[in-house]
Amino acid sequence: MTPELRVDGRRMVADLRELAALTSDAGGAQRVAWTPTWLAARAWLRERLAACGVAVEHDAAANGWALLPGHPGTPTLALGSHLDSVPDGGWLDGALGVVAALEVVRSAAEQGWREATLALVDWADEEGARFGHSLLGSSAACGLLDAAAVAELRDADGARFADVAAAHGVAVAAMPEASERLAQVDALLELHIEQGPVLEAAGRALGVPRGAVGVERLRVVFAGQAAHAGTTPLPLRRDAGAAAARLALAARDAAATAGGLATAGALRLEPGIVTAVAGRAELLVDLRHERQQELLALRAAVERAAREIAADERVEVEVAPLWATPAVAFDARLVAALEAAVAADRGAADADSGAAGADSGAAGTSDAGSRALVSGALHDSVAVARAGVPAAMLFVRSIGGISHNRIEDSAEDDLVAALGAYAAAVSAAARIVEPR
Ligand SMILES: [Zn+2]
Repeated sequence: MTPELRVDGRRMVADLRELAALTSDAGGAQRVAWTPTWLAARAWLRERLAACGVAVEHDAAANGWALLPGHPGTPTLALGSHLDSVPDGGWLDGALGVVAALEVVRSAAEQGWREATLALVDWADEEGARFGHSLLGSSAACGLLDAAAVAELRDADGARFADVAAAHGVAVAAMPEASERLAQVDALLELHIEQGPVLEAAGRALGVPRGAVGVERLRVVFAGQAAHAGTTPLPLRRDAGAAAARLALAARDAAATAGGLATAGALRLEPGIVTAVAGRAELLVDLRHERQQELLALRAAVERAAREIAADERVEVEVAPLWATPAVAFDARLVAALEAAVAADRGAADADSGAAGADSGAAGTSDAGSRALVSGALHDSVAVARAGVPAAMLFVRSIGGISHNRIEDSAEDDLVAALGAYAAAVSAAARIVEPR
């Protein structure tokens, strides 16, 4: 029987508050990657880890790694998230996952827990806030980085990424070598705030996403005939704007039928004046679904609707792919371990409150919420899962579903419960993950 790790949730919260005080101003968290405040956050983490005898190293893509070796023959479990934030960001996005990993590593060091090698990871530049490339460090580690293109990225002041990276000791051409470090990892667990309203609406503190949605983005251009708004009878129009409007609604209907999401978030009409029928309409559509096959079926349905609407409105249509990323499922064993830890926490909470009634330990009830949960946002763990490394995430309830904002918050009791479940899942993962 593997000894359980005991962790101190209040100590984690105190650390999070200290980090926030150190790296925030009146506008919110300012830990934007490749800035002095980000480096200050990383220096703070390095000091915290040094205090428990663990050193931080950086891979070729500036991802921070801190290893606490386990007994020989035990698996290597990566634990972490990202210290960088958006400008005027919140105190928990990313920081929670890193400081939770710090608390787990520190507790393991204190207790002599050696059932796995723990590899704290602080991914570099998850947000892409300065240079516009999200998941920069994890993409490099996962072999998904176009180093030549990334080198030429510019920030708002015109600074070139390759120069800024070099000033931080990173050679862009060498960034893909970060995969060597990730190759030593047998599984990855990330604790993160939900950044959405689903858990709060379900009345649940914690949830385990089954995976991450796939995304298909399309540019749809309808070409009709610009015409006078007063002199052209409705039946004689070739109205590209009307076609685009119909497609926006058709995409929404198709997504509702498929159990996915469709967002027609951008529409440009030409000539774009109130007195002319639009001769040209460009509609951008973002489609998401948690299952790849159904995502592709949804895209096909939208493309079919575009052609039917074009024929009906007597306009031409062209559909072009803009960007896509496939749906990915998290590792089933890790998801099960996290769900068991969440259910145990719920059982304990019910016992504490004396409410050992219909809901206590009711796996069926508690699972209903988590089964509905999928990550709709970008996360480093999603990139890692796509790269074939077993990975899973634990989400904690966000107050009001708000994130990327200084009012981003979660209840302290929720954060403490999240750390407890996370540590229990780490203990479980040490038993079930096989070392390579
Ligand atoms: Zn994040």
